[in-house]
Amino acid sequence: LKSLLSRSELLCEQAYVAGEWVDAKSGATFDVTNPARGDVIAKVPDLSREETAQAIAAAEDAQRDWAARPAKERASLLRKWFDLTMANQEDLAIIMTAEQGKPLSEARGEVSYGASFIEWFAEEAKRIYGETIPGHMADKRITVIRQPVGVAAGITPWNFPNAMISRKAAPALAAGCSFIIKPSELTPLSALAMAKLAEEAGLPKGLFSVITSSSSSDIGKEFCENPKVRKLTFTGSTQVGRILLAQAADQVMKCSMELGGNAPFIVFDDADLDAAVEGAIACKFRNNGQTCVCANRIYVQSGVYDAFAEKFKAAVEKLTVGDGMDEGTNLGPLIEPKAVDKVQKHLEDALSKGAEILTGGKPHDLGGQFFEPTIVAQATQDMLVSTDETFGPFAPLFRFEDEDDVIRMANDTIFGLASYFYAKDISRVTKVAEALEYGIVGANTGIISTEVAPFGGVKQSGLGREGSRHGIEEYLEMKYICTSV
Ligand code: ADP
Repeated sequence: LKSLLSRSELLCEQAYVAGEWVDAKSGATFDVTNPARGDVIAKVPDLSREETAQAIAAAEDAQRDWAARPAKERASLLRKWFDLTMANQEDLAIIMTAEQGKPLSEARGEVSYGASFIEWFAEEAKRIYGETIPGHMADKRITVIRQPVGVAAGITPWNFPNAMISRKAAPALAAGCSFIIKPSELTPLSALAMAKLAEEAGLPKGLFSVITSSSSSDIGKEFCENPKVRKLTFTGSTQVGRILLAQAADQVMKCSMELGGNAPFIVFDDADLDAAVEGAIACKFRNNGQTCVCANRIYVQSGVYDAFAEKFKAAVEKLTVGDGMDEGTNLGPLIEPKAVDKVQKHLEDALSKGAEILTGGKPHDLGGQFFEPTIVAQATQDMLVSTDETFGPFAPLFRFEDEDDVIRMANDTIFGLASYFYAKDISRVTKVAEALEYGIVGANTGIISTEVAPFGGVKQSGLGREGSRHGIEEYLEMKYICTSV
């Protein structure tokens, strides 16, 4: 892997704690493997709670000075981090594909998407405005200021090894917080490369640490139990989100949670079918179906069901499965064997309840963690895929007759992250967008992620928003000052 990089030092096999590159005190390491080939590409330190506490203590010290700096100074350091990220985009993408499996073109896209949050929040750092409120008595003046929460800790998943971190680190640092990240144990190398560039950009020692560890629950406990930590930000499964929220309750810690989804994708009779197919491909198969905003259930109205199914099948059959490093690959491997099991389980469950395979339907001939992109027809609400997120290349088509029915089915889930629909009638577009109980609605588009908009879920898909001017609020506290004159 090193030989593929223009700057081999971006492949780091030490953790970044309190401004130092370190091994674990215990000497323990864990392996990072390439999901396309199964070979070990690096070993990183397996850190413990003790080292996490050390990072937290340093973060507390560094934060005071950081928060006291003029916003413009924080902004300019973040801007440097953004510039360095973009200057090293290709290396960061190669490291990501090697540890995560996504096609190199998607990895490049993720690096620039991730960097866009650093750029955006570098700019927002200067716009953390307060408020003055007319006093309630003749001698009273009321001012509201917004101050950083303090030490913020984050836990992120493996599906976007770079962007899930920058979406949290950038607003935290812009707000004047310090930040400690525990990346997924499956993809720590992207996080370490980001730290290397943050260090080069001149971020003060201790302000940003990366805790690599295979014992995520221990690190999660340290984050929740250490009184120096004032904010927890998590992206991952709803199941782990619930555990962390319960743990964080003891300290009444400020939390933001980006959890699971089960996105409906609805195609109405009046939709532009070619656009709907293009949107469905983009949002079902990006990252091989492993995103929390991937379409999980595709509802197609009766009048266009057959036509849509045919066009969608033709488009899926053009997708190339392979090693993400190979030019022309559209779908890489799944992240780990248990992800393949889950796709298979959803497929078998659907088939046992009457679904029919339109294309795909089995592990790919390449073996390992590769799976054929699969479409099934005649899906129904009693199938597992209706309640559970597949996180893989499995696209079930549901037939529906009328608008009220499909809205009811689309909303019949504990999740509420992303949703999509295609229709032309303007009053339908407005009504459906309002009726979907989701934090994000794509109306005639399958691609909704951008740093300028608030990303987040309702119901059990999460708390809080990332991106946009709202994203920085998660790292700020409001203080009301009442002055008697
Ligand atoms: P995914 O299904 O995306 O792997 P998880 O919720 O299992 O989602 O993992 C997301 C992140 O949460 C990873 O960094 C993982 O190490 C971490 N994690 C998993 N279990 C716990 C836990 N009990 N406490 C803290 N972090 C955890």
